[in-house]
Amino acid sequence: VSAMANSEYEYVKSEFEFDNRLPPSNWIAVRIDGCHFHRFSKIHTFEKPNDENALRLMNACATSMLEKFPDIVFAYGVSDEYSFVFREETEFYQRRESKILSLCVSYFTSVYVMKWKDFFPNKELIEPPYFDGRVVCYPNLKTIRDYLAWRQVDCHINNQYNTCFWLLVKSGKTEKEAQQALKGTFSKDKNELLLQQFQINYDDEPAIFRKGSCVYRDKVEIKVKTDCFGNPIKRLRLVIAMANVDIIGSEFWENHQYILRE
Ligand code: ATP
Ligand code: ATP
Ligand code: MG
Ligand code: MG
Ligand code: MG
Ligand code: MG
Repeated sequence: VSAMANSEYEYVKSEFEFDNRLPPSNWIAVRIDGCHFHRFSKIHTFEKPNDENALRLMNACATSMLEKFPDIVFAYGVSDEYSFVFREETEFYQRRESKILSLCVSYFTSVYVMKWKDFFPNKELIEPPYFDGRVVCYPNLKTIRDYLAWRQVDCHINNQYNTCFWLLVKSGKTEKEAQQALKGTFSKDKNELLLQQFQINYDDEPAIFRKGSCVYRDKVEIKVKTDCFGNPIKRLRLVIAMANVDIIGSEFWENHQYILRE
């Protein structure tokens, strides 16, 4: 009990602070997104459409998040955004939304600033990066899987568009002309354009651009010691892993059932 608890001012807490606990038995998804990163990426001369170092910095921040907050079971990132999924029954901060959200956003941002020089040793950070965040609860496995699929579909649509757009611009079109050329095109039209005009097979583009990034704990066998006969003694350990893979289909989830088990 703090000194203030019984003062005449205590009512400002008991009567004005409201309970913001998230509903039990829901997967908690926290999505953070860089504020004005269109501008931030320009100022810091990110490569277009995809600066790989910037993506690797985001992934390093996500890895730090899983190290810091054990109840995060999965993270998915693309561009300037990252989603963090807390396990369904987490009691982290009694599931208080404002605590969970603010801790995620501030910790991610701090790590982004601290690790900047590791990924951009020759680039000064000239503006403070900052992120917004939101929390959404998903009541079952289907909806949390669909949430992650939704983000990866978005990654695909945006990356395919941006790949075409920047190739057109780099080949001499103005941004307006490039935009006009892509207006109303379907996915297969864009694949055709890449093939015909640039001899690029979209599927050969790096997976980190096409699929986004997943960070999770992987089960791996690790040799812990050697027994008295010199045979290795192995144990299953959870090791934080990063992969640029499909999470829309069921293959990844069938091979990693322990990640989102209900
Ligand atoms: P929590 O995560 O629950 O907030 P906490 O350790 O941050 O835990 P607080 O009640 O917020 O606990 O107290 C802040 C602590 O930080 C105190 O122990 C205080 O001594 C220390 N602290 C904060 N600012 C200063 C400062 N300017 N100089 C010395 N100590 C400070
Ligand atoms: P808001 O504050 O509303 O989020 P924003 O400018 O951040 O605005 P987003 O829709 O979040 O807009 O888009 C992110 C922007 O940051 C895009 O313009 C994208 O090109 C740029 N960006 C983010 N990551 C990278 C990267 N790794 N390489 C190149 N550009 C990037
Ligand atoms: Mg943004
Ligand atoms: Mg964004
Ligand atoms: Mg404190
Ligand atoms: Mg449920």
